[in-house]
Amino acid sequence: MPVDYTSELLKYYEVYETIGSGGFAKVKLGRHILTGEKVAIKIMEKKDLGDDLPRVKTEIEAMKNLSHQHVCRLYHVIETNSKIYMVLEYCPGGELFDYIVAKDRLSEEETRVFFRQIVSALAYVHSQGYAHRDLKPENLLIDEDHNLKLIDFGLCAKPKGGLGYELMTCCGSPAYAAPELIQGKSYIGSEADVWSMGVLLFALLCGYLPFDDDNCMVLYRKITKGHYDNPRWLSPGSVLLLNQMMQVEPKRRLTVRQLLDHPWVMKGYSSPVEWHSTRPLGHIDEDCITEMAVSFKQSKQRTVQLVSEWKYDHTTAMYLLLLAKKQRGRPVRLRVDVPVQDLACSPLQEIQLKKSLHFNEDDDDDYDDDDGVHRGSMVFPADCYDDDNAWIPLTPKSTQTAHTPRTKPPYQSSEKRQGEVGQSPVIDQRKPRPRNTEKRERTRENKENLTVSSRDGNGFALPAPVTPVSSRKGRPNKTAQSTPVNNNIIHTAETQRESSHRRAAEQQQSGQQGGVEILVLSPERRSRSLDMAGCQLDSGQKRKAGKVFGSLERGLDKVITMLTPSKKRGLRDGPRRIKAQYNVTLTSQTNADQVLNQILSVLPEKNVDFVQKGYTLKCRTQSDFGKVTMQFELEVCMLQKPEVVGIRRQRLKGDAWVYKHLVEDILSTSSI
Ligand code: ADP
Repeated sequence: MPVDYTSELLKYYEVYETIGSGGFAKVKLGRHILTGEKVAIKIMEKKDLGDDLPRVKTEIEAMKNLSHQHVCRLYHVIETNSKIYMVLEYCPGGELFDYIVAKDRLSEEETRVFFRQIVSALAYVHSQGYAHRDLKPENLLIDEDHNLKLIDFGLCAKPKGGLGYELMTCCGSPAYAAPELIQGKSYIGSEADVWSMGVLLFALLCGYLPFDDDNCMVLYRKITKGHYDNPRWLSPGSVLLLNQMMQVEPKRRLTVRQLLDHPWVMKGYSSPVEWHSTRPLGHIDEDCITEMAVSFKQSKQRTVQLVSEWKYDHTTAMYLLLLAKKQRGRPVRLRVDVPVQDLACSPLQEIQLKKSLHFNEDDDDDYDDDDGVHRGSMVFPADCYDDDNAWIPLTPKSTQTAHTPRTKPPYQSSEKRQGEVGQSPVIDQRKPRPRNTEKRERTRENKENLTVSSRDGNGFALPAPVTPVSSRKGRPNKTAQSTPVNNNIIHTAETQRESSHRRAAEQQQSGQQGGVEILVLSPERRSRSLDMAGCQLDSGQKRKAGKVFGSLERGLDKVITMLTPSKKRGLRDGPRRIKAQYNVTLTSQTNADQVLNQILSVLPEKNVDFVQKGYTLKCRTQSDFGKVTMQFELEVCMLQKPEVVGIRRQRLKGDAWVYKHLVEDILSTSSI
């Protein structure tokens, strides 16, 4: 029975900042309280899902059935009256897309490492009877070990009669869609996936798409013909493989099986791609069971029984997160000795809980940067942006461009799912339990917790989350530093035409006042470069779009100084000092304020609205119809080695390639 309060989530997880957003969902960083493991929490509003609700169900059912080293693991599903939460394996390395962008393009060797993982994931997914149908670099995330994880199964299909059966639903992103999909023909899901893998391989090796056009019809024509240019740097082996994958006639395309030991894939390797799961469903690990049994004073047999139900409730999450810890060589321990509250919150407690986590159900935007994890004390006004425009339908017959925001087309799988894969418990007895089962002193609260557990009929009692980790560690309370919305300086069409000196003064004022945010709205409140009717990059922009971020780091000599040294001292906080990462564009500059001001002066020109907080700019663009087409962050920061200014970029919403072009354009126009 769905529960109608967010505390269902907050019982088990601390919730931090938004780390991504897609067609249906926003994704926040979280921490599972009992294991201390970081997780990604995908949050979907039921009212916004509408007809897309079945897709979410599809994704959840698919992810329950998939357990593979290169597929993002689902841990927990929480459904309330208004929301669906999916708790997922957290991939801190971001999207493969951003990685490609940061590197311009990847070498053949590095591409091979990633491509083998993609083949492994797809061979497994297909072996389970699923076609993914939305393969693209945005849907491959990088984990902390630099391995890829496939996400976003919302468009996947599991045809009743097996993968050999034809599908009809046209879905996925146009630039990656196979010709037969575009033509509205029936198609075999696995064959369409191989085409998309070919496009993906091309993007890895080249840093741009093989089929691309601002006009959708032209794009479709290019795809249907299957004509693309091979750049000179591609090896003959790469050219051949791409050609074998991007065959217009599906039956002439390579199969995933053939890819496993294809000569290009095998180059430098002694064995074919290993596609079998190293973490098969149904496998039960004894160490994890023992820890859970000891922690909750339950028999191992009962614990196995509960885990084997695979309900994707907190028991499943706890088990899988313990297992994840073990697989990373971390101690298989639960933090059961934290203070415990009764699981059922009173309304007042609930409000306090939400406040303590800055997690506001009504606040449907992402400007509650209460992370305390990455970005310090930035809190953005709740009503700066609305998030109602999460996605814009895309129809293949429309003249919409491939550069539309990263969307999910309204088409959805009409294929029905087959039954779930059986998950019978098989206890892993191979490894002896590494520690003597220690006697733990239980606090009174813990005992109470156990009582609560049995009342709940859950089997595993929980300490309620009282305070986020950040606060427990004695970090300053981020809310306390937030600035009321009234303090925002709103730049309307007129004010933003004022000189950049004015903005600099405001920025200085903001520093002196201790965190005034600056909201700048573009004159037309939309981005021309993101126009839905055709993503009208002018020819200059298009030329630039061929480049990548790396190329923006050259020729950085034009800088306008807008802050005097005394004003700079007036700023309360300096830029963050961070390590060079691939989502950070290096400059050759050493003055962060100059760089910031350069960007500030360019954003209005590019019709980008932004909210400024210190050195972070929360940017967005809108279409003519007021739809938010893109959201991203730019943060000016100082790098440690080399000691230069960097610009951290993060896309939160919108088409990945349009975002790439836009940010390239902003940074090159800023002459940094
Ligand atoms: P949607 O189904 O709405 O398209 P996605 O599943 O594609 O949403 O997630 C949107 C974005 O959130 C991703 O592109 C990625 O940047 C981020 N994200 C999703 N899952 C994770 C995860 N497990 N770890 C880290 N970031 C994630």
